[in-house]
Amino acid sequence: MQKNNLAIILSGGKGERFDSKLPKQFFKINNKPIIKITVEKLLELNLFKKIIIVSNKSYIAKTKRLFDSDEIIITEGGKTRQSSVFNGLLAGKDYKFKNVIIHDAVRPFFSKKLVSNILENLKTNKSVVPSIKIFDSIRKIKKNEYRNILRDDLQLIQTPQGYHYDQIFKAHTKNKNKEFTDDSMLLYKHTKSIKIIDGELSNFKITTKKDYEFGKQIIEKDIKMNNIRVGNGFDVHKFTKGKFLILFGVKIPFNKSLAGHSDADVGFHSIVDAILGALCLGDIGTHFPPSENKWKNKESIFFMEFARKKISEENYQINNLDITLICEKPKVSEYKPKFMKSVSNALKTDPKFINIKGTTTEKLGFLGREEGIACQVSVVLSKK
Ligand code: ZN
Repeated sequence: MQKNNLAIILSGGKGERFDSKLPKQFFKINNKPIIKITVEKLLELNLFKKIIIVSNKSYIAKTKRLFDSDEIIITEGGKTRQSSVFNGLLAGKDYKFKNVIIHDAVRPFFSKKLVSNILENLKTNKSVVPSIKIFDSIRKIKKNEYRNILRDDLQLIQTPQGYHYDQIFKAHTKNKNKEFTDDSMLLYKHTKSIKIIDGELSNFKITTKKDYEFGKQIIEKDIKMNNIRVGNGFDVHKFTKGKFLILFGVKIPFNKSLAGHSDADVGFHSIVDAILGALCLGDIGTHFPPSENKWKNKESIFFMEFARKKISEENYQINNLDITLICEKPKVSEYKPKFMKSVSNALKTDPKFINIKGTTTEKLGFLGREEGIACQVSVVLSKK
């Protein structure tokens, strides 16, 4: 698409309806000011040569500090919405733009598809306006009045709205002294033609604190959904002479023991490795090197507690943990309830999210020859 487009972002609000000294466009969602979310989305589209932010005089410096891009121009707003748009149009006059998109800073939830759709429609239309049909009943409610209003012809108008730059500039110049609620009303007076396209329910305007809280919920839920971590762990220990094994922190009688680092708990070690893997924190050897004597004969519950603390420090929780112990003997099914309880206690995780199973290698390989035990673990973590 030809990149001869301008976007004007209206950021003139002073926060009156927001019960705050800071204008709502500077409130943060997921640590980012609302105006920045809006503008960055437009920048990412790569469809605009310039983005002009029209700001209240008192907040120009604050707005400038938010952006570092040659594509952005920040200019001063007027007394009304209409005069602010005109100031934006004036600031872009020398660039000879073909199209202009006019949008409110406090509508950060528009989709990129909506903007592309508007620009596409501007190829054959002078003005493109998104709107939402109304399906709820509309009623006029006043003292001593409760009356239905026919909704069939009513629609909710949104921004971004798209125009041919020359036309909207001309319309603004001619109507400097008359007030219109938005640019489409102003243009309609001259052209009698407006292309209405489907708006988006999610593209609501953040006007009150409730809208802001709702917007935060949407974004933060989305972030959580996308913040899933997967880790896998694998460990092997060989048998040595002995009379017991430690598996998942449980001491069980056996005709051999496991040799290796710490207490050689192959189960706990692979769980810790899976968790550290999911958190991108290396492996058990990174944090507790076998070369350091202090970890020798250390009980592996210590490493499990370390892993559990890391999960909570990083603000994650365990979604599920799937464990496979690979050996000919001992029989896992015999000790499964004890293993489950021990893993669940160590990680402070509900047993319903933990699965422990055993398998053999059909007498094949070193595990089949009963030379040791292996354990394989998958874990899924999600943001709390
Ligand atoms: Zn190990």
